[in-house]
Amino acid sequence: MIIDSVNPATGEIIGKVESTPPDQLPKIVDDARKAQPEWFDIPISKRARLLRDFANILVVRKKIIADLISRENGKPVVEAYTTEIIPTLDIIKYYSRKSAGMLRNRRVSIGIPLMKTKKAFVRYEPYGVVGIISPWNYPLQLPLGQIIPALLAGNAVVFKPSEFTPLVGDMTAQLLWEVGIPRKVFNIVQGGGEVGAALVLSGVDKIFFTGTTSTGKKVSELAAKDLTPVSLELGSKDAMVVLDDADIDAATSGAMWGAFMNTGQTCVSVERCFVHEKIFDAFTNTLQKKVKDLRVGEGSDPEVDIGAIIHKAQFDIIKHHVNDAVQQSARIAAGGSFSEKGGTYFIPPTVLVDVSMDSLLMNEETFGPILPVVKFRTEDEAIKLANNSRFGLSASVWTADKKHGMEIARRLQAGAAIVNDVITCYGISDGVVGGVKESGTGRVHGKEGLHEMVYAKYYEIERAPRMKKLWWYRYDKNLLAFFETATDFLFSKSLFDKIKSLFKLAPKFLRIKKQ
Ligand code: NAD
Repeated sequence: MIIDSVNPATGEIIGKVESTPPDQLPKIVDDARKAQPEWFDIPISKRARLLRDFANILVVRKKIIADLISRENGKPVVEAYTTEIIPTLDIIKYYSRKSAGMLRNRRVSIGIPLMKTKKAFVRYEPYGVVGIISPWNYPLQLPLGQIIPALLAGNAVVFKPSEFTPLVGDMTAQLLWEVGIPRKVFNIVQGGGEVGAALVLSGVDKIFFTGTTSTGKKVSELAAKDLTPVSLELGSKDAMVVLDDADIDAATSGAMWGAFMNTGQTCVSVERCFVHEKIFDAFTNTLQKKVKDLRVGEGSDPEVDIGAIIHKAQFDIIKHHVNDAVQQSARIAAGGSFSEKGGTYFIPPTVLVDVSMDSLLMNEETFGPILPVVKFRTEDEAIKLANNSRFGLSASVWTADKKHGMEIARRLQAGAAIVNDVITCYGISDGVVGGVKESGTGRVHGKEGLHEMVYAKYYEIERAPRMKKLWWYRYDKNLLAFFETATDFLFSKSLFDKIKSLFKLAPKFLRIKKQ
């Protein structure tokens, strides 16, 4: 089957790729498994060097890459740099420098004195073959944020890009092969949900899934059949809380960028904005004025701020959420029109007020350039409103008082909480991204993201191999008495009891030894 890659801003077919037949997945995974040990045998410094070569190609060919991302995904070309190429390069730089240290063996300290004859350590072993299933909204940065640490940790990878951005996926594979990553170590499979499902069931050792919460649940169910470990990076409904002492100019600009960047199609987009009643009118008036200046159009035009919606299904969800909110009570303060022609879908940045808390817009992920702004009276109320969601990926709080901002941040139920900014958690390689509640289970970036690519294996060496252990067979009254006393000696809170038990311990030890 052939997949057409369509420019969402023009409806034009910009390329075609062949879909991978799902029944080929087990063989691809099997071949990757055979290739993986040799890849893992290469010193990590050499694996890092290959990935730095890959980074150099991204730098040299940045214009072609940015153009392809913008044309295939519809995002403004500036964002192809700010949210794709630059963060990807930073991820490569970060992991290629830090991975060796982060994966260094951990020396185990032994607590129980009877075991002090041992030497032990934990080694971080690659899973083997890691399956990476990605969405279309960040077709370069997002998969590479997982591919890079997976390869550095010594895994083989089978990558399935979204069926809506197959060309960026294909380009990623071509460039990785070009620098010398073996073809069977880095594999790409193309296709839609059926290929993704086949990958989950193909015998991979771990699945990294990024996508909607509903697909994530299906992936989790499929993976449960073989108990394949799964890392899930899912949807959200992120909240922004604006306190009464916030800088209105900065907060409105932040809200706007947080809600409309990538045409609102970002997992950590601001999807709910809660503003203190004292500054609510000033905030919404300023926002209204600024939003009117934003320009909607084809992303490849450098003077466009808001690009196209990826496809009709997404457009329909956004429209449905806005209509539902308006039917219930909401008033459109800016934007609100929906343009659909020739297979292209555009929505201007839209701000709504008087939105019902029961509306779909306040509860389900909208994933479009829509910002509902809701008034609150007290901070406790704002925190309750922000936490009243089944999702929890990121959240932000805006205030002049940074210390107080941190106190509020601690009370927000989310995998990331930011004071006075939005979305940046995804651009800082040493940070960590991941959800709570139905926003997912895994973590990407930072040490935690690298450690998702490995399992901790315990190694132990007994340095006194001829010594018979006291806890071995046979059991009797003397042994029981010894361990009763040893418990007091090792763990009693009272120093007096410890000393007392020490005197009892030695004769009991000798009695056992004589047996
Ligand atoms: P999606 O769930 O429709 O698809 C994601 C990927 O899963 C695609 O490659 C798709 O082909 C594949 N897929 C579909 N059905 C499958 C199945 N049954 N088994 C296995 N794979 C299957 O999501 P989307 O529309 O591509 O992406 C948008 C979603 O991704 C949003 O909800 C967004 O919040 C989320 N997202 C989350 C993060 C994060 O870090 N938490 C980052 C980016 C995007």
